[in-house]
Amino acid sequence: MKVDGSCLCKHVTYEATVDPQKVIVCHCTDCQTHSGTAYRVSTGIVNEEFRLLTGRLKSYEKIAESGTIRALAFCPECGTNIYSKTVGEGSPFFALRVGTVKQRAQLIPKQQVWCRSAEEWSADLTALPRHENQPFS
Ligand SMILES: [Zn+2]
Ligand SMILES: [Zn+2]
Repeated sequence: MKVDGSCLCKHVTYEATVDPQKVIVCHCTDCQTHSGTAYRVSTGIVNEEFRLLTGRLKSYEKIAESGTIRALAFCPECGTNIYSKTVGEGSPFFALRVGTVKQRAQLIPKQQVWCRSAEEWSADLTALPRHENQPFS
Protein backbone atom coordinates (compact mmCIF):
# COMPACT_ATOMS: atom_id res chain seq x y z
CA MET A 1 0.00 0.00 0.00
CA LYS A 2 1.39 3.42 -1.01
CA VAL A 3 1.23 6.01 1.73
CA ASP A 4 2.54 9.49 2.37
CA GLY A 5 3.01 11.53 5.46
CA SER A 6 4.81 14.21 7.38
CA CYS A 7 6.05 15.30 10.78
CA LEU A 8 4.12 17.79 12.90
CA CYS A 9 5.97 20.90 11.61
CA LYS A 10 5.93 19.67 7.95
CA HIS A 11 9.72 19.98 7.59
CA VAL A 12 9.80 16.25 6.83
CA THR A 13 7.51 14.83 4.15
CA TYR A 14 7.83 11.37 2.67
CA GLU A 15 6.20 8.64 0.66
CA ALA A 16 6.53 4.93 1.34
CA THR A 17 5.11 1.50 0.58
CA VAL A 18 3.86 -0.34 3.65
CA ASP A 19 2.34 -3.69 4.48
CA PRO A 20 -1.04 -3.17 6.23
CA GLN A 21 -0.73 -6.74 7.60
CA LYS A 22 2.38 -5.70 9.55
CA VAL A 23 0.93 -3.01 11.75
CA ILE A 24 2.09 -3.64 15.31
CA VAL A 25 1.66 -2.09 18.71
CA CYS A 26 4.96 -2.11 20.57
CA HIS A 27 4.92 -1.89 24.35
CA CYS A 28 8.71 -2.01 24.84
CA THR A 29 10.17 0.45 27.32
CA ASP A 30 12.33 2.09 24.60
CA CYS A 31 9.21 2.85 22.54
CA GLN A 32 7.45 4.15 25.64
CA THR A 33 10.31 6.55 26.36
CA HIS A 34 11.14 7.61 22.79
CA SER A 35 7.51 8.19 21.84
CA GLY A 36 6.76 9.79 25.20
CA THR A 37 3.62 7.70 25.60
CA ALA A 38 2.37 4.26 26.60
CA TYR A 39 3.06 2.38 23.36
CA ARG A 40 4.00 2.94 19.76
CA VAL A 41 2.21 1.87 16.56
CA SER A 42 4.38 1.08 13.53
CA THR A 43 3.97 -0.64 10.20
CA GLY A 44 6.51 -2.51 8.08
CA ILE A 45 7.98 -0.71 5.07
CA VAL A 46 8.11 -3.03 2.05
CA ASN A 47 11.47 -3.45 0.20
CA GLU A 48 12.97 -0.38 1.92
CA GLU A 49 10.57 1.75 -0.17
CA PHE A 50 10.80 4.96 1.80
CA ARG A 51 11.50 8.21 0.01
CA LEU A 52 12.16 11.48 1.77
CA LEU A 53 10.46 14.26 -0.24
CA THR A 54 11.45 17.27 1.86
CA GLY A 55 13.54 18.04 4.91
CA ARG A 56 16.15 15.89 6.57
CA LEU A 57 16.09 13.36 9.36
CA LYS A 58 18.18 13.01 12.47
CA SER A 59 18.85 9.57 13.93
CA TYR A 60 19.53 8.21 17.36
CA GLU A 61 21.16 4.78 17.34
CA LYS A 62 20.14 2.42 20.10
CA ILE A 63 21.37 -1.07 20.88
CA ALA A 64 18.41 -3.45 21.02
CA GLU A 65 18.19 -6.30 23.54
CA SER A 66 19.19 -8.63 20.66
CA GLY A 67 22.40 -6.64 20.16
CA THR A 68 21.38 -5.15 16.81
CA ILE A 69 21.71 -1.43 16.34
CA ARG A 70 18.49 0.32 15.47
CA ALA A 71 18.44 3.83 14.05
CA LEU A 72 15.49 5.81 15.35
CA ALA A 73 14.84 8.61 12.84
CA PHE A 74 13.02 11.79 13.77
CA CYS A 75 12.47 15.35 12.55
CA PRO A 76 15.31 17.56 13.84
CA GLU A 77 12.94 20.56 13.99
CA CYS A 78 9.91 19.25 15.87
CA GLY A 79 11.05 15.84 17.14
CA THR A 80 8.31 13.76 15.49
CA ASN A 81 9.36 10.10 15.30
CA ILE A 82 9.34 8.93 11.65
CA TYR A 83 10.84 5.44 11.43
CA SER A 84 13.26 2.90 12.86
CA LYS A 85 15.53 0.53 10.96
CA THR A 86 18.40 -1.82 11.61
CA VAL A 87 21.80 -0.31 10.88
CA GLY A 88 23.91 -2.28 8.39
CA GLU A 89 23.05 -4.49 5.47
CA GLY A 90 19.35 -4.88 4.82
CA SER A 91 16.79 -4.11 7.47
CA PRO A 92 14.52 -7.01 8.44
CA PHE A 93 12.14 -4.62 10.13
CA PHE A 94 12.02 -1.13 8.71
CA ALA A 95 9.21 0.37 10.74
CA LEU A 96 7.27 3.48 9.85
CA ARG A 97 5.49 5.33 12.68
CA VAL A 98 1.80 5.07 11.86
CA GLY A 99 0.84 8.38 13.51
CA THR A 100 2.77 10.27 10.79
CA VAL A 101 0.94 8.55 7.90
CA LYS A 102 -1.89 10.46 6.20
CA GLN A 103 -3.77 7.19 5.52
CA ARG A 104 -3.36 5.97 9.12
CA ALA A 105 -7.08 5.23 9.59
CA GLN A 106 -6.53 2.28 7.22
CA LEU A 107 -3.56 0.93 9.19
CA ILE A 108 -5.12 -1.16 11.91
CA PRO A 109 -2.86 -3.02 14.36
CA LYS A 110 -2.62 -6.78 13.87
CA GLN A 111 -0.29 -7.72 16.75
CA GLN A 112 1.12 -6.45 20.04
CA VAL A 113 4.73 -7.07 21.04
CA TRP A 114 6.76 -6.65 24.25
CA CYS A 115 3.57 -7.10 26.27
CA ARG A 116 5.66 -7.91 29.34
CA SER A 117 6.25 -4.16 29.75
CA ALA A 118 2.78 -3.05 28.66
CA GLU A 119 1.01 -0.57 30.91
CA GLU A 120 -1.89 -2.55 32.34
CA TRP A 121 -4.45 0.22 31.69
CA SER A 122 -3.56 0.51 28.01
CA ALA A 123 -5.30 -2.78 27.21
CA ASP A 124 -8.75 -1.29 27.76
CA LEU A 125 -9.75 2.38 27.60
CA THR A 126 -13.47 1.72 27.15
CA ALA A 127 -14.36 2.61 30.76
CA LEU A 128 -12.90 6.13 30.49
CA PRO A 129 -15.20 9.10 29.80
CA ARG A 130 -14.93 10.24 26.15
CA HIS A 131 -14.84 13.86 24.90
CA GLU A 132 -14.87 15.01 21.27
CA ASN A 133 -12.16 17.55 22.04
CA GLN A 134 -10.20 18.65 25.10
CA PRO A 135 -12.68 20.02 27.63
CA PHE A 136 -9.98 21.25 30.06
CA SER A 137 -7.72 24.28 29.64
ZN1 LIG B 1 9.05 18.43 12.01
ZN1 LIG C 1 9.29 -0.95 20.87
